[in-house]
Amino acid sequence: MSARLYFDWNASAPLRDEARQAVLRALELTGNASSVHAEGRAARALIEAARTEVARLVGAEARNVTFTSGATEANTLALTPALETAGDKRRRDRLLVSAIEHPSVLCGGRFDAAAVEHIPVNGDGVVDLAALRRALARCERPLVSLMLANNETGVVQPVREAAEIVHAANGLLHVDAVQAPGRIGCDMAALGADLMTLSAHKLGGPQGAGALIRRSSVFGDIHIAEPLIKGGGQERATRAGTESVAAIAGLGAAALAAQQADAAHMAKLRDALEAGLKATTPEVVIFGEGALRLPNTTMFAVPGIKAETALIAFDLDGIAVSSGSACSSGKVQASHVLAAMGVSPALARGAVRVSLGRTSTAADVERFLGTWIKLSGSLLKERAGIAA
Ligand code: PLP
Repeated sequence: MSARLYFDWNASAPLRDEARQAVLRALELTGNASSVHAEGRAARALIEAARTEVARLVGAEARNVTFTSGATEANTLALTPALETAGDKRRRDRLLVSAIEHPSVLCGGRFDAAAVEHIPVNGDGVVDLAALRRALARCERPLVSLMLANNETGVVQPVREAAEIVHAANGLLHVDAVQAPGRIGCDMAALGADLMTLSAHKLGGPQGAGALIRRSSVFGDIHIAEPLIKGGGQERATRAGTESVAAIAGLGAAALAAQQADAAHMAKLRDALEAGLKATTPEVVIFGEGALRLPNTTMFAVPGIKAETALIAFDLDGIAVSSGSACSSGKVQASHVLAAMGVSPALARGAVRVSLGRTSTAADVERFLGTWIKLSGSLLKERAGIAA
């Protein structure tokens, strides 16, 4: 039997060798990073080295990086009315988020539900900047959260343009950049992001670490006045609790490695995969095809083929793909991203997401297409039988 083929990098990327080595080295250490003795200082050194690499990945200052347990926590930490800029303690009055955000953003973090507004996207899954502008006109001190690239469709959002609109309206911009590192640029200054979220396991680090990064914005330094987890003064009193040194060290090593992107390689494979899908199944719909997308992501559906059936068939053939986001697969519920794009529930039920990575090969794509030809042939025959 051939080895498994992993095409679900957006759910969790394989651990990079550099990250594995860093985790293993850190696990050999004894000591709490807050302790002043040599053991504690050794643990602290690993954390600070990782902080430097994470900051470098997004063009920020190390002092502005707060380590968390992952992106869900980083998003929740960021989305608070208690964001102070240069000592200005007035609370943020509203939170505007695009309708295609990850659930940890969509739920509004620590804002009251009544203060959260969803901004629509167009049929290609790109946020409607005119709608954003109109919503901002109704706010005094807004916080806006817009992801850099969508985890389901891979559609890249116009973050730079949004930042200009948000700042002109006296707002701050938080960017969930979880799916970007190693694929597209995520420099905070170039994007105009004031706050940015990263997750270790999406960029080749271990599960269980993430970061919220702040930038000295046009309004001055940002201070999160209400930490999510209070206790000891770790992470400059922004996130209490003894740091997970090994997970953070792994994140740092992965962040260093992710500074080298291999987008052209991934885009070539993704294009071959999509060309193969179209050649074998002309009625295939590729979501967000008209928009700028991540080089590694394809989300598609064929009318009449259910995603759960396709997923099981792929899995039995040794191939891991996903339906919509990993959080919703297993529960088989319609993707909120596709719903926001105006995709019919019937077509959305067939949405399969393929996400590859830097170590994927042309042979992997061939194998995927071979399985697709077999399974789509039999599923389409089944569909014809039902229709007859
Ligand atoms: N944001 C985006 C865009 C994601 O894709 C995910 C994970 O799927 C998350 C946030 C949550 O990440 P974590 O697993 O680190 O909590």
